Amino acid sequence: MKYFFKCFAFFLLVSCGPKKIKFERPVDTSSRPIEFQNKTSYDFPQKEISFNNKFDGARINGVSQINDTIFKIIIKPENTPINNSAYYSFEISSQSTQTIYLKFDYPQGYSHRYIPKQNWGDGWKITENKDLDFLDDKILLRLENIYGKGLISAQEIQNSNDVKNWINKILKNKSYINWVTIGETNLGRPIWVLDITKGSPTDKPLLLFFTRQHPPEVTGYFAFKSFIEELINNNPVAELFLNKYRVLAFPLVNPDGVDLGHWRHNAGGIDTNRDWGHYRQPEIKSIVNFIKKTKRKYNNKIVMGLDFHSTYYDVFYTNVERESTPYPKFLDQWFEGMEKNIPDYKVNEKASNSTQPVSKGWLLYANKAIGVTYEIGDETSREKIDLIGKTSAQVLMKLLTDY
Ligand SMILES: [Zn+2]
Repeated sequence: MKYFFKCFAFFLLVSCGPKKIKFERPVDTSSRPIEFQNKTSYDFPQKEISFNNKFDGARINGVSQINDTIFKIIIKPENTPINNSAYYSFEISSQSTQTIYLKFDYPQGYSHRYIPKQNWGDGWKITENKDLDFLDDKILLRLENIYGKGLISAQEIQNSNDVKNWINKILKNKSYINWVTIGETNLGRPIWVLDITKGSPTDKPLLLFFTRQHPPEVTGYFAFKSFIEELINNNPVAELFLNKYRVLAFPLVNPDGVDLGHWRHNAGGIDTNRDWGHYRQPEIKSIVNFIKKTKRKYNNKIVMGLDFHSTYYDVFYTNVERESTPYPKFLDQWFEGMEKNIPDYKVNEKASNSTQPVSKGWLLYANKAIGVTYEIGDETSREKIDLIGKTSAQVLMKLLTDY
């Protein structure tokens, strides 16, 4: 009898979880071990220089001195195989004014991706071409006349604390935004959602926005920020939009990966954007469970989801299947509106139905919703990203309030 109840409880638990989705090319997203970096300082007293990774979002796996002016910076991924996105981030401290060279070293088979960004106390700047030498698939970075402390990073550092500060900033005087912790990662970091609507959330169509499944994809996060800031801007379009729709925005899907300075995976050693079929990792499981509970409780229907990422250039990955979604013409109209409102801008769309368990496919197959992977180029100018993010939000709100 006891066994029966146990089984019954187990059955309830399993059957109540979100429905798993079959993809043409399934991926095993069971956890795999990762290698943690040593959080330490690499000191070279004779040169009065040191390097450290003692902050969230840092990555450096070793430093060695090659000669009087060249240092080798050893960078490794959290585990392999992994997508080729060599991410690095560290602080340099020099007690005398000097010129040094950093030779980046990635494991065999991995090459350079990100142009170094630097912050010497007066904001982030992209390294100029004259200070970079490309050696096969690696780089040599020249740091001329450096003195004091500076950060060298694949992209501007945006760790969980930075995301938290941004949320606190946008929450000010906006009681209609609810900031909720919906779960916990493998390492106990909170998974957040911003639940945004004006008036009652009940019976409203639901829009989902995700970002930072992949830790170094900071330009996608910048677009996400501009996009969300536009949705909560004080203007009549946003007012109408938020009265009609409910938004769930997930500003940091993979906080462990972000704070550990990962190339791509979470602390379970998995690409979370391959886990939208079976939800084996805590990040995706918490998110999908929360969405399911919310929908049921408030009678919300998912109409659309955008997942903000970065790659080598700006591109929107869409699904070919549109007729089964609530607004079959939306994507064409949205892209047309963006081209009309951003000077010299041409939308680069690549359409194909997802075959692997990515969020875009989950939106279509599990929800019959519009799904887009919204990719921003690694080196797209930050001003342009802001413009694309804001304009895409304005056009989207205008179209959706008119439907
Ligand atoms: Zn990505």
